[in-house]
Amino acid sequence: MLESFNLLIILWFFNLNVSRISKALCLIGILGILLCPEGHTIDKKKRVLVLHAYHQGFHWTDRIMAGVHSVFNDRDDVELFVTYMDTKRRSGDFYFGQLKELLRTRYEFVKFDAIISSDDHALDFLLDYRDDLFPDTPIIFSGLNAFPADRLSGQKNITGIYESYDVEGTIRLMLELHPETKNILAITDETRSGNIFKNLIRQVERKFSNRVQIHYFHNMSPEDLQFTLASPPENTLVLWAIYLRTPRGTTLTTKESVRLVTESTSKPTYCIWDVVGQGVVGGKVTSPNFQGEVAGKLALQILNGVPADDIPIVGSPLDNIFDYELVKKFNINEELIPNNSIFLNKPISVYEQYKVYIWFYSSILTLLIITILFLTTTLVLRQRKEKYEKMAMHDPLTGLYNRHYLDAMAAKKIAEAARYHLPMCLLVLDLDKFKLINDTYGHPVGDIILKNVSNLLKKHCRSEDIVARIGGEEFVILLDRCDKEKAIEKANLLRSSIEASKPNDILVTISIGVTEFISEQQDLNGLLEKADKALYQAKDEGRNRVVFK
Ligand code: GH3
Ligand code: MG
Ligand code: MG
Repeated sequence: MLESFNLLIILWFFNLNVSRISKALCLIGILGILLCPEGHTIDKKKRVLVLHAYHQGFHWTDRIMAGVHSVFNDRDDVELFVTYMDTKRRSGDFYFGQLKELLRTRYEFVKFDAIISSDDHALDFLLDYRDDLFPDTPIIFSGLNAFPADRLSGQKNITGIYESYDVEGTIRLMLELHPETKNILAITDETRSGNIFKNLIRQVERKFSNRVQIHYFHNMSPEDLQFTLASPPENTLVLWAIYLRTPRGTTLTTKESVRLVTESTSKPTYCIWDVVGQGVVGGKVTSPNFQGEVAGKLALQILNGVPADDIPIVGSPLDNIFDYELVKKFNINEELIPNNSIFLNKPISVYEQYKVYIWFYSSILTLLIITILFLTTTLVLRQRKEKYEKMAMHDPLTGLYNRHYLDAMAAKKIAEAARYHLPMCLLVLDLDKFKLINDTYGHPVGDIILKNVSNLLKKHCRSEDIVARIGGEEFVILLDRCDKEKAIEKANLLRSSIEASKPNDILVTISIGVTEFISEQQDLNGLLEKADKALYQAKDEGRNRVVFK
């Protein structure tokens, strides 16, 4: 894009054969580049220098940097510049003077909006050279061993976070977890931090003097350390305070140092700054990640226009952190470990690992079970209700409707027939000499005959007719929308089919009284009365016949 733009300009200026359209495009291009938002963003981008006292790969420094990154990772409007001073390997006035010149050259054309320093040497360097290298640039310090009151006097435009240590808290923690302890071996080196830690331990020593004796292993060679730690007295704990430089001047990484100590001794080792996870059991320590993150956030406030001196200097919080594998290895009673402690290397239970899924799916499962239970209960209740309703309306022996149902439905049918002047007839049926059948063949055979007769009645009636058993061997049929002729015809059909059926080879006959619904005043009882009269007449006339009245 940019190349073609340049080519167009050249062609234009040399007045070659370029069309007007190309010239117009060229002008648009110039305007576009001048006005494009990206160009503005580049101009407005904030620049932050992170100056580390130590080197990349130094565990502590890397974790501070990780904390800073966590703040700026998503900020495209902030550009981070990172410089490592490497003071674990080289320090001194001459070196710092050279470093100053290097930084002057390196950042000659960069104007920083804020500088984050990590650890003491970086702050000291900035305080010495800030006027020369970065005048008026606010400083946010982190990783300091203590609140830097003396160093800040007379300084302006500066804030930050300092490491708070709790040497007393760590020793107290060690004694709580190992109440039988009589000796603590405190390991320090001859670095500035080493001496600070040694002094901090000395300051709290007398508070424990009646319980434990503290032995100072200060600035010992690795060989001497290994030898002494190999056979410590009974009931001894080791306190890895700091040991990163040997008397010969060789530097050790925290990992190498902690391993040197913990592999030399069978005793539990604790720390007062965060090297948990590298071989020590634990300690009451501050997290470098947290310091980096806080420093980053303070820098953001400054970039947003808050004056550095208006932002209070804060101390980093302390946590009881333990390596769970070592807690187990040294059989430390977990009940003695303070609540809210942080554990590294703790195996996560299946429950904790899949907690969210377990809760989600078990909630769904519970919901499903509740729904299934609800639906099953509703279904059972409905079936039971239907069963009771059926029982209430039906005759259990034959399955025909009972008197109760007949009463209820007949009233409706009669009202309908009256209203719409529809024809309707009622039949009363009574088996002939049924007592004799019972007496001759037995009651169970009588039941079979009753069922057979009922089936025949149902078979020859329409679904809208009501066929009911209203007594022992008495039935009623209400023929809906059926006139007298058809009713008599139906009654004769029923009579002849029953006579022809001969259940169990027994001749069964039936007498039927038929009546027709004629007036609006007539109710079921009126119909029954008339049909009964017809039935009696049929009986009187010799049975097995149909009589209409
Ligand atoms: P009629 O021709 O005059 O009607 O004579 P009948 O013998 O049929 O009449 P009756 O009223 O004297 O006898 C009815 C008999 O019906 C008496 C009883 O034993 C029988 N019965 C009533 N209910 C049942 C039943 O549920 N099962 C059986 N097997 N018999 C029944
Ligand atoms: Mg009878
Ligand atoms: Mg009878």
